[in-house]
Parts: sequence; C-alpha cells; structure tokens
Amino acid sequence: MSWEDNVRKVVPYTPGEQPKIKNIIKLNTNENPYPPAPGVVEALKNMDVSDYRKYPDPSCTKLVDAIASFYSVDPEKVFVGVGSDDVLAMAFLTFFNSDKNILFPDITYSFYDVWADLYRIPYTQVPLKEDFTIDPEDYYVENGGVVIANPNAPTGVALPLSAIEEIVRKNSDVIVIVDEAYVDFGGESALPLIDKYDNLLVVQTFSKSRSMAGMRIGYAFGCKKLIKYLYDVKFSFNSYTMNMPSIELGAAAIADKDYFDKTRSMVIATRERAKKELKDLGFEFGDSMTNFIFAKHPDKHGKDIFDYLRQNGIIVRRFDLPRISEYLRISIGTDEEMDELIRVLRKFLKE
Ligand SMILES: *Cc1c(COP(=O)(O)O)cnc(C)c1O
Repeated sequence: MSWEDNVRKVVPYTPGEQPKIKNIIKLNTNENPYPPAPGVVEALKNMDVSDYRKYPDPSCTKLVDAIASFYSVDPEKVFVGVGSDDVLAMAFLTFFNSDKNILFPDITYSFYDVWADLYRIPYTQVPLKEDFTIDPEDYYVENGGVVIANPNAPTGVALPLSAIEEIVRKNSDVIVIVDEAYVDFGGESALPLIDKYDNLLVVQTFSKSRSMAGMRIGYAFGCKKLIKYLYDVKFSFNSYTMNMPSIELGAAAIADKDYFDKTRSMVIATRERAKKELKDLGFEFGDSMTNFIFAKHPDKHGKDIFDYLRQNGIIVRRFDLPRISEYLRISIGTDEEMDELIRVLRKFLKE
C-alpha cells in the first residue's frame, strides 16, 4: 500500500503554447489580435494599489452589474468566474451529479472530458457527422446533462439557435450548458432562451471577442435558481476567485460597445478574406463563425504544414486526435499576419 494509491490521478488539459520568443506570428490560441478597449487603460491608471491589501468584493458586483447592463438581464441571472474555464469547471461540479452519462461531441473543446474525468462524471462523446456538424437528434436520449460549444471548437461550425432550443427543450430534466466562447464572431446566442428554459446555462468569456485572455474573466447566464446553485458551489470552493483588477478592468472593457463592435467586425472581415485565400490555395474547411479556421489540405499532411509554418515563424494549433489529425486550427490575426501566413503557405505548396 502506498500513498500514491489514493491520489486523484488525472491527465490534464494541454493548453496551446505561449512561446517565449518574440517576432513570432501567433495564431494558435484564438486570442484577439487587437488590444483591450481604451477604457481598460484608464481604469488601470485609476486603480489604487494600496487597495490591494484588502480582499476583493466576493460578489463582484461591479463586474456583474456591468455585464447585466450590457446584455439587459437581471444581475441575479449572471455568474462570473476566472475565465470561462473556471465557470465551466464549476458548472460541471454543480450540475452533473447523476449516474447517467453526460453528452458532448467527440470533436469539441478538449477540456470537457478532462473535467468529467477529474470529477468522475460518466460521459459519452457523441460523434459529429462526417461534415463536422452536430445532429441534434443524437441528444434526444436519456442522459445526465449536455454540453455543446456553439459555435463548436475546434471546427468553427455553428448550430442554428432553433436546434439548440430543441436540445434544451427535449432535455428539461437535466442541465444543458451552451459554451459560447466564440458567439460574438457570427453565432446566434442562446441568451434569450434563459427565461423560457430553467435548465439552460449559457457561458461566455472576455478572452476572445473582448481581447482580455490575460485577465481571466468568464461569465454565465441562467435562471436565478440555477445561478444561485452555481454560486453556492463556488462559495464552497473559494470565495475570492475574481481579483480586484479583473473586476475593475472587466467592467471597463464591457462598457465600450463601440470598440467591441468595431474590433469584432475587423476580425470577421479578416476571417472572410482568409477563407477566400485559403480556398484558392486548395484548403478545405467548414464555414467558420469564429475567430479561427479549421482547415486541411488534400495534398499535404497537417503535420508537415504545421512544421513548415513553425520554421517560418508562424504558430498554429494542431490536435493529434482521431478524425482531426490532418487539420490545422488557424486563429485570425491582423490582416498583415494573415498576409504573411498566406505567403508562407503558398511557398510551401509550390515546393
Ligand atoms: C477559449 C475557450 C474557452 C475558455 O476560455 P477562457 O479563457 O477560460 O474564458 C472555453 N470554451 C471554448 C470552446 C474555448 O475555445
């Protein structure tokens, strides 16, 4: 008998690389190429560092109210956490406690199975269709809960809101989590459905469309009862997950709607241009509604393209997993960065 027999053993999630070298074009973790809203700089300057001796507001009122006001929802229907990873981890712990399997796609955010393993939640990975779309009917079966990323990652493909609604409606006895990390780049949010369905949790983040991955701010919407259950678990875990700068700067970031609309439109425009150029080079991909394109080339191995890009100072993401090992997930950078990507790819394809 060894103490190691009683260790909770987990295979952790592997985040995308954050390279230490400069002058690299970083298209591997779906960060926004544009800086946070100008109001964030102002709010940072106005912060009084001597306040840091105190604990932060455990209910994060300023941030919750700013999110509630932006989306015109009751603050009691808003939960906040340390990035949506924290929000999702809390939601798995709070809502998935039956003996039945929870359901999520076989190709999706690769943290879902890690949390399920961590908490020992049984799960079934439901295969996406051949074209990487979700068949809603696959989710009309008995289960312990449902998790859908919409638009899905790493495929980039979005499911219409009507299909999400059917999944929520047909699963009224369990919680359905809709992870909307990329919804601001062209998907349809399920937020309007939270008043109609008390089993729906909609999760979003500041990391992509609001250019603040480094601050770690995520949030969720649901009916008051569901949000209260989530806070009960969170306050049983750590009262002070959100630090003072996250609360202040997050509130400042979400207040600037014009900047948000301007930068996401820029990302969308660059994505549409990149789609056209990648298509001209022979790449194949679904219709991305996100800030990345998940593409493969019929004549070249994903690993070879990945290595060549890296040698030329461009990092993209590749998953060594069944069904998708030939694909590259390319985040949308600035126009200049995408021009360089296309130039290097064109060179590679000629060789
Ligand atoms: C990026 C991402 C998240 C996590 O984002 P945070 O930085 O933790 O807010 C969650 N879900 C999906 C599908 C993502 O791509």
